[in-house]
Amino acid sequence: MNNKALAHALLWLVALAPAVVAAFHAPPASSAPGDWLNFLGRIAGIAGFGMLLVAAAVSFRLPGVDRWFGGLTKLWNTHHLLGCGAFLLLLVHPLLLAMAAVPLSLSVAIGVLFPPDGGGAVWLGWIALVSMMVFMAPSLGFFGPPKYQRWKSIHRLSAVTAVFGLVHTLALSRSIESPYSQWLWWTLATLALAALVYGLILARWRHRYPYRVSVVHRVAPNVVELSLEALARPMAYRAGQFVYLCHQQRNLHGRGEEHPYTLSSSPDEAVLRVAVKDLGDASRALQSVVPGTAVALTGPYGDFFPKSSGRELWIAGGIGITPFLGRVRWLAGRGEAVDIGLIYCIQDEARALFVEELRQLNATLPGFNLTVHYFYKHGPLSSDFLRYHCRDIASREVYICGPGPLLQLARDLALANGVSRRRLHTEEFNLL
Ligand SMILES: Cc1cc2nc3c(=O)[nH]c(=O)nc-3n(C[C@H](O)[C@H](O)[C@H](O)COP(=O)(O)OP(=O)(O)OC[C@H]3O[C@@H](n4cnc5c(N)ncnc54)[C@H](O)[C@@H]3O)c2cc1C
Repeated sequence: MNNKALAHALLWLVALAPAVVAAFHAPPASSAPGDWLNFLGRIAGIAGFGMLLVAAAVSFRLPGVDRWFGGLTKLWNTHHLLGCGAFLLLLVHPLLLAMAAVPLSLSVAIGVLFPPDGGGAVWLGWIALVSMMVFMAPSLGFFGPPKYQRWKSIHRLSAVTAVFGLVHTLALSRSIESPYSQWLWWTLATLALAALVYGLILARWRHRYPYRVSVVHRVAPNVVELSLEALARPMAYRAGQFVYLCHQQRNLHGRGEEHPYTLSSSPDEAVLRVAVKDLGDASRALQSVVPGTAVALTGPYGDFFPKSSGRELWIAGGIGITPFLGRVRWLAGRGEAVDIGLIYCIQDEARALFVEELRQLNATLPGFNLTVHYFYKHGPLSSDFLRYHCRDIASREVYICGPGPLLQLARDLALANGVSRRRLHTEEFNLL
């Protein structure tokens, strides 16, 4: 297991620690089904709430720390898994507890769910659960693909879930001996709170860089590459990393909204560059941004490429060319020979972004081999195409970035052609 997998495993361990302690400390009272259901109900609640707090704790965006986990997108995958797992466990938690009481009588079972005399802590648990249903609904796509900004606002309700859930847990938890129960829950809650404080206050102050758009280069009708010059200390980054960009142009949609974009420039350049494709409201608005506009960058994030280059195969689709563009510009600047094949998948010549520059690099950078795969001409990317253009694919590190379906296809083809999972690296342009 490598260090990054270990870091993810550690998160799960921390999330599930209270449930493990509770399972040992308060096992089922007997082998009767009611006692087992009660045990499972308690453990589901404890495991679910532990996972919820750790999911909240990893929602911070601390530049550099995300690399311990293989980059922000990988960390967010774990956040999603923890969040969805927590949701399911917290949904079954009251049901199992009520079912455990059914052998006593139906009215006792209903009383477990809705205590007739007081039971304030139980009602707080319901508020936590209902608020969780509300903020998880868009994430689970119950009402179709969510609008990012709306999704983000609704997701803030998770703070209500965490606070009410904590009070509910501290008041009712008898599965873990006191004071260990308080220690465990307060440690996890403090981690989640620290993430919140960092995200709302510290990130803006410590990792936000003021820049200004210096050049707007139209690459295609729906793609611009913006050159950005620093207004104060410049951001240091590695090729292929990404930033959150927030523009300040008045009368332009998306002002003040943060969106992630990969740096397409080489870290050695004096300016930063991002290439933005019109994929929605905010990215469409950026097509009309004018030189002189102030932008704030937060970052850098991501851990797509290693520090030094080896024998690599890059597979890019459409705007997914940006991390490779940043890296090849950086390698070209160093002037050393490389051993890298790039298979660039695009629909047709009209959508061939940066292809002239890549052809020039193909001619001047020793060991860099560009192959353009046109969908209209070659059909979907295939094993035959990959093997023909990269005979030794199985022994290379493979990097893939592009739209979801291409990413999945290229991943499957690479695995089918003998590339081990350890050597397969993917970057998704989707954090939801
Ligand atoms: C790591 C990463 C690197 C990226 N690099 C590039 C790049 O180099 N060039 C490029 O053109 N695009 C890039 N994108 C995609 C870009 O972030 C989205 O196209 C843009 O945010 C869409 O916003 P919108 O309002 O225009 O569209 P919307 O219609 O609002 O969103 C379309 C989809 O984009 C995603 N999205 C929207 N806003 C955000 C946000 N603030 N944070 C995370 N995801 C969001 C959601 O999945 C959403 O469903 C990258 C995305 C990620 C995650």
